[in-house]
Amino acid sequence: MKQHGKSGQGTQAEQRGHGVQTSEDAGKLYVVATPIGNLGDISARALAVLAQADLVAAEDTRTTGHLLAHHGIAAKLIALHEHNEMQRAAELVARIKAGKTIALVSDAGTPGISDPGALLVARARQAGVTVCPIPGANAAVAAMSAAGLSAPHFLFYGFLPVKSAARRAALEALRELPYALVFYEAPHRVTECVDALAAILGGEREIVIARELTKLFEAIHSCRLDQAGAWLAADANRQRGEFVLIVSGAPAEASAGLPDEAERVLRLLLAELPLKQSVALCAAITGARKNELYARALELRD
Ligand code: SAM
Repeated sequence: MKQHGKSGQGTQAEQRGHGVQTSEDAGKLYVVATPIGNLGDISARALAVLAQADLVAAEDTRTTGHLLAHHGIAAKLIALHEHNEMQRAAELVARIKAGKTIALVSDAGTPGISDPGALLVARARQAGVTVCPIPGANAAVAAMSAAGLSAPHFLFYGFLPVKSAARRAALEALRELPYALVFYEAPHRVTECVDALAAILGGEREIVIARELTKLFEAIHSCRLDQAGAWLAADANRQRGEFVLIVSGAPAEASAGLPDEAERVLRLLLAELPLKQSVALCAAITGARKNELYARALELRD
């Protein structure tokens, strides 16, 4: 850890409780969230960590160099991206074990979230290195916070597969979940993706299209899923920039939709037997899925 000011006293930021500690902190890996657009969206603690780290491991050293320069920080940078993470992880862990402090950043938002970083973190943890997250911007959470969906739960999916058969299979596996689904998508695929969402998840669901969050052309639009394609097509600007797509969860009926026979048998059994036994017998008699029967049995019991 670079020392600023008198040894052991820390910088002004540290004394205010914002920053990192001094010597006893040597040999840690900090996972530092950076802005997803607006360069002001970075915490005082993140800036202190970046200023004092011996090395900043960055997905793209130019992008991070720009951010650091904006905040007046001169740091030593090293590239760590999806193509070299495997080799570089071992080297960086060795440096941390030798007492150096490394800050890991990605191009935007939180490292390891649809971004490189998880491998270095895993290697560091395996080697007994302390890993400290420095939380901050994340596009999915920012979009969720401004979506206004009354969803108590959401599932972060990130990027769907690019090929249509694989994307269809992924969406079919998500179709019945009663949770809001959060996707990342690139601008050149957003229309195709929205069409697939409508076709596979059902056009009556709500979608929130969050574009260019925290940037000049930030826009958040919600509509029925089957209207989203036309809305995007109505103005080419609507297909530009970075996107988070949030789709409301499967309606309750869809997730509780047992076949009639399974529903009838389950009700009969529940009237006579304990819940677990009823579920097991009903699964054996009707071939319905145990987890679906179990969820339905809980509903009926309540
Ligand atoms: N690690 C990042 C995070 O914490 O959100 C995500 C990185 S991922 C490689 C990039 C994707 O995140 C973009 O393609 C887009 O789907 C989403 N994203 C990033 N910044 C965004 C923004 N300002 N507005 C909307 N979506 C954004």
